Amino acid sequence: MGRPSENCDVVIIGAGPAGALAAKRLADEGVSVILLEKSRFPRFVIGESLLPQSMAFLERAGLIDVLDGAGFQQKTGANFSDGTRYSSIDFSDKFTKGWARTWQVPREKFDSLLAAEAERAGTELHFECDVESVEFAAGTAVVSGHSSAAEFRINCRFVVDASGYGRVLPRLLDLDRPSDFPVREALFTHVEDNLAGTDFDRNKILIAVHPEIQDIWYWLIPFAAARASVGVVAPARYLAGKGENNEDILHCLIDEMPDLKRLLRDAKDCRPAGRITGYSAGVSRLTGPGFALLGNAGEFLDPVFSSGVTIAFKSADLLIDPLMRELAGETVDWEKDFSNPLKRGVDCFRTFVEAWYDGSLQKIIFNPPEGDNMIRKMIVSVLAGYAWDDENPFVTRGRHYLDVVAAQC
Ligand SMILES: Cc1cc2nc3c(=O)[nH]c(=O)nc-3n(C[C@H](O)[C@H](O)[C@H](O)COP(=O)(O)OP(=O)(O)OC[C@H]3O[C@@H](n4cnc5c(N)ncnc54)[C@H](O)[C@@H]3O)c2cc1C
Repeated sequence: MGRPSENCDVVIIGAGPAGALAAKRLADEGVSVILLEKSRFPRFVIGESLLPQSMAFLERAGLIDVLDGAGFQQKTGANFSDGTRYSSIDFSDKFTKGWARTWQVPREKFDSLLAAEAERAGTELHFECDVESVEFAAGTAVVSGHSSAAEFRINCRFVVDASGYGRVLPRLLDLDRPSDFPVREALFTHVEDNLAGTDFDRNKILIAVHPEIQDIWYWLIPFAAARASVGVVAPARYLAGKGENNEDILHCLIDEMPDLKRLLRDAKDCRPAGRITGYSAGVSRLTGPGFALLGNAGEFLDPVFSSGVTIAFKSADLLIDPLMRELAGETVDWEKDFSNPLKRGVDCFRTFVEAWYDGSLQKIIFNPPEGDNMIRKMIVSVLAGYAWDDENPFVTRGRHYLDVVAAQC
């Protein structure tokens, strides 16, 4: 498509899961949407294991059939190991009603499909458009930047920032706030996994903990077609002396986890190892006059429970109703109708992430309380992404409830 049009109702910055889902939903409602993406798809991005809760948002956007037809690896649960202790969860064994399966997705293909569906619904989609400036005036905004061909300038009524780590509006409006989580590093690659001769269950993500250092954990996420994503998360101090380059460091750490070393003994890397540091980030507020922040552009916690895409989808889902009302001329209470409901689930994941790293959640996962099947189901629900379920005490009572359960384990 050529240059972006000069006028529309809503400009969305970034065509990742948050931006594409919001664009699809708004286009379905008949809103004129321009979706601007800095890169050219397909592009590599990390974040490949979805949670069943995300299916509800995809279903509402009418996207299940097309994704089911795309041949992604099914995901029905998670396995945990620290080399001596093992635990397995199945999403069907959950407390909250709803989807119990999802997919593990190479994001190149998944994000391209979502963006194409947003375009098919009527979104004006432009790749290689880098948004550099946004100016707000009463009731309008001007979004400008440059594409591979020329500069662009778009007048709109509302700006949705779904730029992920680009964090366009947080930078321009000084909304960035440091995360409460310490800086950690992630190293990862894709492999031809050759797992066929092993006991590995391809329908489950494996989350493995370093046998001696509970702060270091690994993921093994199988895709379709005998490929998998492999990665490790560790505080920077544990990476020193592990190797000259990212490949060496990643493989050195994998070799320190016996289960993973065994599973991956015949695996072959099929892309250079990537490395991200300091990915956790926050903001002072998620909305303001004429804008809202979705997904990672708002807050990113931590990869350990694969919550990123689910939160991105939830934020896009929550955006639609208040934004439609605002475009119709209503005054909207964005804190009440968008930010607060979104934060409820994010705070539940935050509690789980904190408890993972301080060891209490690892204690519960590896030694679940005996006899209490309901508590197990409630934990499985949160791990399946149902972090907005007000019936679940792990959501409503947070850390206090988790500590009570951990004390019983
Ligand atoms: C190590 C690691 C592992 C992870 N694993 C998982 C996982 O297993 N499961 C999971 O759910 N999540 C995971 N995540 C998190 C997940 O990657 C993100 O939460 C998710 O991609 C957020 O989606 P988004 O749409 O907000 O942003 P993104 O997916 O980052 O999309 C943002 C888009 O905006 C574009 N953009 C940026 N700047 C501009 C600009 N100036 N103009 C125009 N476009 C712009 C970017 O090119 C990009 O395409 C992981 C994260 C890390 C760091």
